Amino acid sequence: MNKETKPNEADCNDPLGNTDELISQEIPPGVDRRSFLIRSAVGGAAAVMTGSIVSAHERIEKAVRTLPVLPQQSPAPPLDPKLNVVQKGKGPVLTTVDEFYKVGPGPSSSHTIGPMRITYDFYQRATKLPADKLNRATALQVNLFGSLSATGKGHGTERAALAGLVGKEPATVDPLFLDSLRDKPDQVFQVKLGSKSIDVSLKDIIYDATKGDFKHPNTMTVKLLAGNDVLLEQEYYSVGGGFIEWKGYTPPKKNPPKYPFSTMKELRAHADNNKISIANVMLANEMSIPGRSEEEVYAFIDKIINAMVATVKSGLSMSEDDVLPGPIKLHSKAATVYKRAMDESYQSDRGIGVLSAYALAASEENGRGHLVITAPTGGSAGVMPALVYGLGEGGRKLPLQKIRDGMLAAAAVGYLCKHHATLSAAEGGCQAEIGVASSMAAALVATAYDAESRVVENAAESALEHHLGMTCDPVAGYVQVPCIERCAFGAVKAWTAYAIASNEIASRHRVDFDATVQALAQTAKDMNSKYKETSEAGLALSVVLC
Ligand code: SF4
Repeated sequence: MNKETKPNEADCNDPLGNTDELISQEIPPGVDRRSFLIRSAVGGAAAVMTGSIVSAHERIEKAVRTLPVLPQQSPAPPLDPKLNVVQKGKGPVLTTVDEFYKVGPGPSSSHTIGPMRITYDFYQRATKLPADKLNRATALQVNLFGSLSATGKGHGTERAALAGLVGKEPATVDPLFLDSLRDKPDQVFQVKLGSKSIDVSLKDIIYDATKGDFKHPNTMTVKLLAGNDVLLEQEYYSVGGGFIEWKGYTPPKKNPPKYPFSTMKELRAHADNNKISIANVMLANEMSIPGRSEEEVYAFIDKIINAMVATVKSGLSMSEDDVLPGPIKLHSKAATVYKRAMDESYQSDRGIGVLSAYALAASEENGRGHLVITAPTGGSAGVMPALVYGLGEGGRKLPLQKIRDGMLAAAAVGYLCKHHATLSAAEGGCQAEIGVASSMAAALVATAYDAESRVVENAAESALEHHLGMTCDPVAGYVQVPCIERCAFGAVKAWTAYAIASNEIASRHRVDFDATVQALAQTAKDMNSKYKETSEAGLALSVVLC
């Protein structure tokens, strides 16, 4: 080869010269990627030896024709391309902290907070119907489909949906109200619609088909009925992290961001070119997009920081004899781990143990169905609070402003994962929940310690990279095993990612965050649907409850 020629600038007549052309092709469905690439390359080599010129297209066709077809892998049904959650990756990020960090009851933002927001939304719509229609109303009915139906019982989805119908909102609902629905499931409530009062109970929440041609794996319908007549019906989707959409949804109009970005590369360019931190870029956008003052943005962030601290403290205060709700009969362990970790003689052992205990504490609160914060979801609600508490009053005692900055950088990481991949385990498995949470937490720590933007990116990338492929398989459909301990691992991995990123030579970090988010999205698409919050495989199968 001519020394001046770089490998990817090879002669276009060489069938093996430009592998980019081949590798960039979509691997056809039903064939093994490795076999496909080998056969295609062998075809090219044969062409060289026989002196014929074969195009990449011809090689691909031939490779596919000669490959054995793989058995069907029960791929997840594709998402409806019209969903905003699918289309959103096209423009700049427009998500804001008040949409992203949501306070609500555990154990799952997509299975509790989302459904409660959905039925509350429907109730609001129903109240606006004309009086003559409302006078005919006799019943409200909720049908749960897909993952909401498959694992909804373990998540308390029926209780969350009923709570929304009777006018409760996630941020303000008393968890004791939800507990009372669990303990006394026959309770009947009256929903006021105009001059009519309609009786509703858990019997009106129907666990419907788990499999079907749904627009999103977390689909539900809500209806207002007059006998068999439908007065109002709406199809909704709980698209992850407590975000909801409905059939015909159009996202709300927003102001343009001061610093538009749709990738980490663009976000960092704003920070580096303006000589400001990622947190300051985010603050400017949080002000410009919804038209808020700095005080208003920080007031919201402080509320979320306080709520995170409260979940850790509340979880640590629970007795080690406390048993979490559900058939697993899982004992609380946060307080025990904390106490014993504090007795460790080595400071490093204490640090890891205590950080794990904080994550266990917040995650166990989620398992109890108590109020948690989506960061980015309920299942992963132990990760960020562990670091927020550990950097603040539970450990390092950093000034509040450092933690605020960290919360903004963490939000940027979560937004980008939502923008280009998913925050929903029903779409992408646990990598989309704990993986994203760990990545956010790594950005939080790096930012709180004033790391430069490259280090923040590297820390976030590393934490996400080492969760890729992680499946969602909650035992018995309860967000407890593996979820609670997994939050502790997510928190410790976030710290590890920061430790590596802040000590390595930043410019030599080989993988960029945007590439890892792409890998997250692609892995989510390829993951077998059994591993996407259905409790049909993995630990959900191998752990036997007795
Ligand atoms: S396994 Fe992970 S994604 Fe699935 S419910 Fe548990 S925490 Fe959420």
